[in-house]
Amino acid sequence: MLKMLHDEEPVLRAEITALYSVLDHKLGLRGAEVPITFGMDEKVLGSYLPPSYDDEEQFQFSLFFIGFCMNGQISKNDRINLYKHEYAHYMTRHINIPDRYNWQPGVHGSAWKYCCSLIGAIPADYYIEESSIKKIDYESVLERPSVDHKQVQLLDTYRTQRAIKNMENAKIKYEIGDTVTHPKFGEGTVQDIEKQPSSVRLHILFGDELKVIDQKWLVKTEYKKVSER
Ligand SMILES: [Zn+2]
Repeated sequence: MLKMLHDEEPVLRAEITALYSVLDHKLGLRGAEVPITFGMDEKVLGSYLPPSYDDEEQFQFSLFFIGFCMNGQISKNDRINLYKHEYAHYMTRHINIPDRYNWQPGVHGSAWKYCCSLIGAIPADYYIEESSIKKIDYESVLERPSVDHKQVQLLDTYRTQRAIKNMENAKIKYEIGDTVTHPKFGEGTVQDIEKQPSSVRLHILFGDELKVIDQKWLVKTEYKKVSER
């Protein structure tokens, strides 16, 4: 399944880039040029990581979810909204936010909601199925001071924890030549290691078939190193 999901990457990447190009054109931004990475996160659909001292700016999306939405579990509308949600995060870093939209703090505060209003993203920080259909009253969302500060703080804390987890996931735990076992494919040898900003992909040769497997998934499902070399 994982290989199948990774095969969706070019399709999804094209879909995201096409949308971001349209938004870029409208806003004079360059979001379509920001690298997009795909992971297998089970809790977060997507995220925008601003540039930091040790990492370049990027968008991340979870294949775990997006992959499934290709099978109709998540509608195209909701998928597009997810892309816009993350683009709005990118916008908060790259456009001038009018002062009157700076009253609410947090990554999903009023500045972000203002950005949502410019691109038609749902200004909600959680996923609601088919929520994209609802008509949004941006006026009231932007003006009414109804923030739950505790919740915002919680999300920001979670975001920090996630950044740490990403760093953990990007640590290479295998070496080229390592032997691993797989319940279905049997014994395989690590041929190549591909380091990504928040993940590590292993190219493993099972017999004469080469599979690309996310190290995180590998570790989690207890593929094992057969021997320490
Ligand atoms: Zn968000």
